[in-house]
Amino acid sequence: MQNLEIDSKRLWDTIIETARFGITVKDGICRQTLTVADRQVRDWFVNACTDIGCAITVDDMGNTFACREGKNNALPPIAIGSHLDTQPSGGKFDGIVGVLSGLEVLRTLHDAGYITNAPIEVINWTNEEGSRFAPPMVGSGVFAGVFSHEFAFNLHDREGKKFHEELECIGYKGKTKCGNHKLDSYIELHIEQGPVLGVKNKLIGIVTGAQGMRWYEVTVTGYESHAGCTPMQLRKDAMLGCARMIEGINQLALNHAPLAVSTVGLVEVRPNSRNVIPGAVFFSVDLRHPDSTVLQQMDSELVTVITGIAADLNLEVQCHNNWYSPSVAFDEHYINVVRAAVEGLRISHCDIISGAGHDAVYVSRVAPTVMVFIPCENGISHNEQEKAEPDHVAAGANVLLNTIITRDKNRRYPNKIS
Ligand SMILES: [Zn+2]
Repeated sequence: MQNLEIDSKRLWDTIIETARFGITVKDGICRQTLTVADRQVRDWFVNACTDIGCAITVDDMGNTFACREGKNNALPPIAIGSHLDTQPSGGKFDGIVGVLSGLEVLRTLHDAGYITNAPIEVINWTNEEGSRFAPPMVGSGVFAGVFSHEFAFNLHDREGKKFHEELECIGYKGKTKCGNHKLDSYIELHIEQGPVLGVKNKLIGIVTGAQGMRWYEVTVTGYESHAGCTPMQLRKDAMLGCARMIEGINQLALNHAPLAVSTVGLVEVRPNSRNVIPGAVFFSVDLRHPDSTVLQQMDSELVTVITGIAADLNLEVQCHNNWYSPSVAFDEHYINVVRAAVEGLRISHCDIISGAGHDAVYVSRVAPTVMVFIPCENGISHNEQEKAEPDHVAAGANVLLNTIITRDKNRRYPNKIS
């Protein structure tokens, strides 16, 4: 293997330089998808890639592919990617580290005059965050056939603005149809967004898969009545039902410790008045587990818990499963290539399962895929305080570089790839 190394200062400088697009007073980033700040960072990325001779393709979902040619351009590209959009109060690293490290890999190959066999591509996916246009991972989702174009184009934000109009507005509705783009493989470097690497004191997480997720919307209906004049035994208190359900949903994950998690993060009480017994409560549930069978079991336990509590309190309940993302196992062969690269670089590491959704989850349906995690301070993410160490970012980018070089060398002998 040639002894190539990325330029850690240059990589860090690009993270700081591009943070100005959407920078917030608290030094975070507000760069929601298809906004002016999103256009600015996309333009910057396109210019930086064309400066080193890459060809740019933009598909009709705005996904952007920067391609560095190889010796045999009939081969599908080895892809590196992530996202440049952020939460409204996001940090400088979530997604950004993956795309800019990809750019740094291209720059390193360019400086060294290293020509790979297959082309190398860096991808910026549209709307990973899903904060302005829900659901998340829409660009990669259409790419992988999870969502239709029609579904994505008709999404609208809270002001009623349509996804496809906003995409045209920032000039990133490309001509190529999203999905008509074969990849040899896909690798995504990302901050962990959790505390595991920090607690274990490891620098690299080799991500073997992502856990399954189920989202629900629950409506509990009771009866609004006077807080002073309605005796306790005659009440239909929807809020009391909700409180007991939250406790039950929390216990449900504890019953499947240590891997299960459950969260009720959004609650709306009606009429939300201090002297009225709550007549209706709407709340969300987020259940996650790496094993789809256990997640399925948690699904039926959820129904048992909430219907049991509703019956006890004489309430009605409706539960709607509004999103399901099955657990994903990444490509075993590619995981081993990453492991060899990490061990070759003598970096401390452990295997890890992703707790969050990522573009890699959807891309894994159409190409051999793997992810690499680096720590973020105290596991804090989706927060302006999000922090990653320059040395950790550099280590992650070097893992990317060495992994794709090995993948590319194997590519010369396609029979070797299972
Ligand atoms: Zn992300």
